[in-house]
Amino acid sequence: MFKKITIFSIICILSFTLVSGLPVYAKTQSQIKQELSDSQDKEKDAKADYEAKKKKEAQIEAEIKTLEKTIAATEDELKTLESEISANNAKIEEIEIEIAAMEANVQRQNEDLSARLRMMYESGDGSLVEVLLGSESINDFLGGLDIVKKIHAYDMEVLDDLNAQLAKIEEKKAELDAIKNELKANQDKQIQKRESLASDKKKLVAAEAQAHKETVEAQEDYEAAQKASDALESELRSFRSKNEWAGTVVIGNGRLGWPCSGRITSEYGYRTRPNYGYTQLHSGIDIAVPTGTPIRAAESGVVYSAGWKGSYGNCVIIDHGNMEGKSITTLYGHNSSLAVSVGQSVTRGQVIAYAGSTGNSTGPHCHFEVRVTGVAQNPRGWL
Ligand SMILES: [Zn+2]
Repeated sequence: MFKKITIFSIICILSFTLVSGLPVYAKTQSQIKQELSDSQDKEKDAKADYEAKKKKEAQIEAEIKTLEKTIAATEDELKTLESEISANNAKIEEIEIEIAAMEANVQRQNEDLSARLRMMYESGDGSLVEVLLGSESINDFLGGLDIVKKIHAYDMEVLDDLNAQLAKIEEKKAELDAIKNELKANQDKQIQKRESLASDKKKLVAAEAQAHKETVEAQEDYEAAQKASDALESELRSFRSKNEWAGTVVIGNGRLGWPCSGRITSEYGYRTRPNYGYTQLHSGIDIAVPTGTPIRAAESGVVYSAGWKGSYGNCVIIDHGNMEGKSITTLYGHNSSLAVSVGQSVTRGQVIAYAGSTGNSTGPHCHFEVRVTGVAQNPRGWL
């Protein structure tokens, strides 16, 4: 196992080294197009993802709002219940006072009645004597007896009435107690509902926070994807404008195409070198380009030379055969690497090398020469 891992690691390190050691080539237009298409696909996906997450977040927000309404309604209901309960309690209290007063009244009436009856009983005939003494006639006496009976009957009536009232009040009290219990049960239910709603809300708020975080991340991804696509689009635009320039700018007879596009840092011609006391011919034009820029064949032909060529560094020479009755060759110097080999047929615009700064060179550029029957001429006359 250890051995396997070690070998695998070495392979990884080696391939990494190999990859990073490769020269950096400029991308071709079709590569950029492919990258742009991939990037646009990614952008589309990222946009869909972002929108889905935004929607989910909005849904949770809406759910929270609905829940908040339910919570408010529950609170209102609880308040109503509480006031109903307190009104009910006040009523119960009132009735209890009423019952107590009635009970006291019944008690007193009862006592009065008992006292009177006891007195009448204890006095025996005495009362009758009193009634008799107080009576002016026998008729009065008889009448007095009637009064005693009537008083007794009245007392009994009052007592019955009081007892009936008391029973009614007790009934009412029981009714109120039932209402009170029902209200209390409702209140308990509402309180439970409130607690469950609060816990639901807590969960939703947490879900919303998570959804928001995800939305923000998706938005960032989407924006990054947009940026990547924009960068590739501008890369493609600049590639096109560069190539259009390279392909269309005609300054001479236009017989040859530009090997690459860039700033001309040195023209063809004789340079005086005061420090050395002589003049020297610069046999081509120097086009400054970044290392790795594709160098293209100025015209179709056969590779005459491909390899190291002294101060030219990595150099390619293409033989174009007869053009306008003259034998024409083109030379491309200072490349970082070559893409063709001797004897190979190439077409106009085909990549034959990648720019560099090999040989006698102070910076990455393409030294481009046009040779007419073996003698260097100003390439501008041919471009
Ligand atoms: Zn040069």
